[in-house]
Amino acid sequence: MVKQVAIISGGIIGATAAFYLSYLKGHESVAVTLFDEDTGQATKAASGIISPWLSKRRNKRWYALAKQGAELYQQLVNDAQLSANAYCRTGTIVTRKDHADLLDLYHEAEIKAAQTPAMGNVELLSSAEVKRRMPILTNPPEGVFVSGGARIDGQHFVAELLANAQQENLAVVNQRVSLDGSGRVLTEQGPRQFDRIIVATGAWMHETLKPLGLSLKVRPQKGQLIDLLVDMPASWDNMPVMMPESMSDIIPFNHGKLVVGATHENDGGFDLTPKEAAKNQLFENAQYFIEQLSKAQITDMRVGTRAYTDDFSPFFGILPTMPSILVGGGLGSSGLTTGPMIGYHLAQSILSSHLVDWNHYTKPIGTYIS
Ligand SMILES: Cc1cc2nc3c(=O)[nH]c(=O)nc-3n(C[C@H](O)[C@H](O)[C@H](O)COP(=O)(O)OP(=O)(O)OC[C@H]3O[C@@H](n4cnc5c(N)ncnc54)[C@H](O)[C@@H]3O)c2cc1C
Repeated sequence: MVKQVAIISGGIIGATAAFYLSYLKGHESVAVTLFDEDTGQATKAASGIISPWLSKRRNKRWYALAKQGAELYQQLVNDAQLSANAYCRTGTIVTRKDHADLLDLYHEAEIKAAQTPAMGNVELLSSAEVKRRMPILTNPPEGVFVSGGARIDGQHFVAELLANAQQENLAVVNQRVSLDGSGRVLTEQGPRQFDRIIVATGAWMHETLKPLGLSLKVRPQKGQLIDLLVDMPASWDNMPVMMPESMSDIIPFNHGKLVVGATHENDGGFDLTPKEAAKNQLFENAQYFIEQLSKAQITDMRVGTRAYTDDFSPFFGILPTMPSILVGGGLGSSGLTTGPMIGYHLAQSILSSHLVDWNHYTKPIGTYIS
C-alpha cells in the first residue's frame, strides 16, 4: 500500500526532503503532500553562501553536517538537474583584517583542502589578485580563495526541487496548517491523517509542536539584506562570493545583481519590516569595497527569520513520543549548507530501514524538545 507522507514546510529542509522522497529508491511507495505558508521563510531570504570550511566555529557535529552538506550540493544539483540560476560554483574569498591571521587561515585551508576534495583549490590572493577575480571592487582586500565555494538562490533552488518532485509523487498546498494532539494535520479543508509527517517549520516550530504537548527551544532572529542592480559587462558574470571579516558579505549574481548581507538581529524576532537603518548599514559596508555604488541601485530589501537553538546547533530526529513524526530545524545562519543533508536523511529514513548513525550530526532531539 502507498504510504501517505506530509511535509510541513517548503524551506530548504522540506524541499530537499520532498525531492529525495520522489527520487530515492522506494519512492514509488509514497505519496507526498507538502504544506507551506511561505511568510518569513529564511530560505528564500538568504544570502546563499555555501562555504563552511573556514568557519570559526569548532562544533564537530555541525561541521560534519555542513561539510557533507556542501558535498551533497554537487550531487543534488546533478540528481535534480538544477539550473545555474539555482546553484553556481563560483568560489569564495574569505578575508582577515590582520595579515598574520590571513596566513594562519591559509595554512588551515591548505590542510583541510588536502582531506576535503569538495573544497577544490585553495589560493592566497594579494589585493591585486582579488581585484582580478572581482573586477567590480575598487578597494579589494587580500584573501584566501576556495574554488569549491558556491552561491545559491534559495528561492529558485526550492522552486526547482519542488517542480521536479511534482512530476513524480508530490502535491504542494500553499496554506498554513497545524497539528492536533493525535498527530493529524488540520488543513483549511479539514483534518487529514498521514502515515508519516516531517515538521521543519523553522522559527515557527515551537508553535507547530505545541499541540502535541511538546516545548521546543528555538528562538527567532531577524535577518535583512539588500539587492542591488549594477551596470557591468557580461564578462564579470560568475565572480566569486566575498566574505570579509566582521563586515557584510558580497554575493555577486549574474547580469549585474549584487546581494549584500545579512544582519543578525536578536531583538527583531518575527518582525518582517525592512528597516532603513539596516539598509544604510549594509549599503555602507558594500560601498567600502565598491565606491561607485549609489543608493538608487538598491532594487529590493529582503527579510527572513532564522531559527536558533541554545547551543547554536541544528537538530533532527524522530519524536520519541510520536514516532510517525520526524523533525528538523534550528539551522541558524548556515542552514542553506546544513539543511539539504537533514532533508536527505529524513527522506531516507522514511524510504529505507538501513540508516546511518545520526548521532554523528546531531545531539538526541530530547536535548532540544521537552
Ligand atoms: C537574511 C538571511 C541570510 C542567510 N544567509 C545564509 C547563507 O548565506 N548561507 C547559509 O547556509 N544559510 C544562510 N541563512 C540561513 C538559512 O537561510 C536558514 O537557516 C535556512 O534556510 C532555514 O531553513 P528551514 O527549512 O529550517 O526554514 P525556513 O526556510 O524558514 O522554512 C520554514 C517554512 O515553514 C513555513 N511554515 C511555518 N509554519 C508553518 C505552518 N504551520 N504551516 C505551513 N507552513 C509553515 C514557513 O512559512 C517557511 O516557509 C540565512 C538566513 C537569513 C534569514
